Amino acid sequence: MTHPLAPIVLSDPRAIAGAGIDVLVIGSGTSGVTAGIELAGRGLRVALLEAGPLLLTEHVGSGPFANRGDFVPEIHDAVRYRTLWAKQADPAGAAAEPNNNAWAVVGGRTVFWGGCTPRFRDEDFAAWPYGADEMRPWYEKAERLMGVSGGDGSQVASSPFMAHAAQQRLMDRLGAAGIPSIHAPLGVDTRPVAQGHMSLGFDSSVSRLLRCPLFGRVENGARLSLAADTTALKLVLDGRAVKAVRVRHGGETFDIPARHVVMAGSCLQSVRLAMVSGLAELDPGIGCYVGDHLFRQAVLRLPEAIGEKSLYIFVPPTAERPYHAQIQGMFGETWYSPLHATVWLDGERDGRHLLFYCFGISTAERASRVVLRGDGAGIEDYYVVNERSPSDLATLAAMKTFTGEVAAGLGAELLRTEEHCAGSALHEYGGLRMGKDKDSSVTDPDGRFWRVGNLSCVDAATWPHQGSANSYLTITAVALRNASRLAATLAG
Ligand SMILES: Cc1cc2nc3c(=O)[nH]c(=O)nc-3n(C[C@H](O)[C@H](O)[C@H](O)COP(=O)(O)OP(=O)(O)OC[C@H]3O[C@@H](n4cnc5c(N)ncnc54)[C@H](O)[C@@H]3O)c2cc1C
Repeated sequence: MTHPLAPIVLSDPRAIAGAGIDVLVIGSGTSGVTAGIELAGRGLRVALLEAGPLLLTEHVGSGPFANRGDFVPEIHDAVRYRTLWAKQADPAGAAAEPNNNAWAVVGGRTVFWGGCTPRFRDEDFAAWPYGADEMRPWYEKAERLMGVSGGDGSQVASSPFMAHAAQQRLMDRLGAAGIPSIHAPLGVDTRPVAQGHMSLGFDSSVSRLLRCPLFGRVENGARLSLAADTTALKLVLDGRAVKAVRVRHGGETFDIPARHVVMAGSCLQSVRLAMVSGLAELDPGIGCYVGDHLFRQAVLRLPEAIGEKSLYIFVPPTAERPYHAQIQGMFGETWYSPLHATVWLDGERDGRHLLFYCFGISTAERASRVVLRGDGAGIEDYYVVNERSPSDLATLAAMKTFTGEVAAGLGAELLRTEEHCAGSALHEYGGLRMGKDKDSSVTDPDGRFWRVGNLSCVDAATWPHQGSANSYLTITAVALRNASRLAATLAG
């Protein structure tokens, strides 16, 4: 069923094909929209292609659904598909039941994400071709455009979304136990709703796109446009250049030409598209070194109700602890899934239960890679091979011990804790590694493919490694950086 807003905000991909587009961006999550707005702002004609439909015009938690824990999982189901992370590349692994989720929708995962926006620590950039100093201005710009709030004062942020006395009391208990914590940095705008300013709510790329004055229908001459329900099937190559992007829309397959193509389909989809387009024949490094955060979850019970509906505490990583923790509440006793990402908006004043998430840095080995299933042409036609390294297992064991320490520090009972499988943190990275040396990397430090002249990537596929921080903010900052540098080249 077509969204009633489609004739107003969406463009026909056939019109995009005839519009003399400078840059085609594949994907409308935060990486694609951030890059698209930046490129269009520099005078380029840009079109975004999105495989999924238009479903929501803002984050699911910014409107009435925030408090509808019954509706939210069903809204996810409208655009969610299943994926597989297997330990080995064997026929049984390839045929195994999927164990993870992915989403195809205008706005990508930004319509559902949980809002936590820490930065990487300076040390986390050790394996990157540039360091924390280079990233700082892009972080600042990304935080400004996302309306980040909270944190420890080191980010560009407005006042915390939640900072009540009960939250401070729990933070003091953790501090007394030697576990310093802060009000969680969140992509939720807390600037005053006054003088004509409305809160931006949760950051979401779909609302950022719709608010952008350059955005409109290509049929009306807009400089920045979007075609939904339009899947990029493959990149059509002419020697070492992309001639066009072959797409499927409404049962028809056709080519859209462009001067430059930007991949922003999310890490695994950008890798799959590169592989199905034959790029791994030009560069065997494509698809390798894929990782995701190590992920442990727990539910803790406090001795007392705190008398506040919601709280969100962040325990930063340290040099000794390559993992961080997020503590959210207040709830009845429930084991939440990622399909309840906004649970902390829907708390219970007399609840005593806290949701605990712990994310740890994983290693990305060359053997951790994307494998195509069948002809690899559909967005579900892949799986990931990923085996935990000895260093991952050591970090996971430390995260388990830390879970008990946090519970004890809060004076809470640890009711249940589980380690999740690889892929379930939804913070995947790698597969199109960037680097300074073209013999050991797929793209240059700006995400431009070494071996294909007019092709770039702006999502986490280019990351050589990760920090413990959730990825959204860093994806947005890197997309801004790469798009700005690309715009300078294309303008020339
Ligand atoms: C429930 C949930 C909670 C989360 N919580 C947090 C959090 O608290 N903090 C945090 O930092 N991160 C969080 N994340 C992760 C975060 O949302 C993602 O890391 C980030 O949004 C990824 O952005 P992206 O642009 O790379 O990809 P996506 O958001 O996945 O967008 C990619 C888009 O490209 C489209 N696409 C892919 N391939 C093609 C193709 N061939 N043709 C056309 N279109 C294509 C897809 O359909 C998709 O819509 C969460 C994610 C989820 C789902």
